[in-house]
Amino acid sequence: MPFCPNCKFEYKPEVKFCPDCGEALVAELTSQEETEEPINYVQLRRVPSRLYAEMLQEALKKQSIPCLIQAEDAGLMLGTLGTATTLKVVIWVPQKLRAKAEEIAFQILGEI
Ligand SMILES: [Zn+2]
Repeated sequence: MPFCPNCKFEYKPEVKFCPDCGEALVAELTSQEETEEPINYVQLRRVPSRLYAEMLQEALKKQSIPCLIQAEDAGLMLGTLGTATTLKVVIWVPQKLRAKAEEIAFQILGEI
C-alpha cells in the first residue's frame, strides 16, 4: 500500500500522488520518518535458567510488557548442552515499564 511521506496516510495501490498535498506516494514509510522514540531496554533480572526467564516473559506478556531474554554466554548454547545448567539468563525490559515489570518479577520469582 502506498503512503504519503508528508501526511503518513495510506492510499489505494492505484493512487500515485497524495490528494491532500500532491506529494508522490512511497511504497512504505521508512523508519527514518517514523517519529516513535526507540525503546530503551534496561536489565530487569538475572535468573538461573531459561525456564525462569520464559515464565517471567509469559507473565510480562500478559501485562503487555515486551521483554528480551539474553543468555549470558550464547556460545554455551551451541553444542555443549551439558553445561547449560550453569547458564545465566538476563531479562531486559523497556525502561519506562521497569517498575511494573519489577513487581511482576517479584510475584513470579520472589527473591531468586
Ligand atoms: Zn500528503
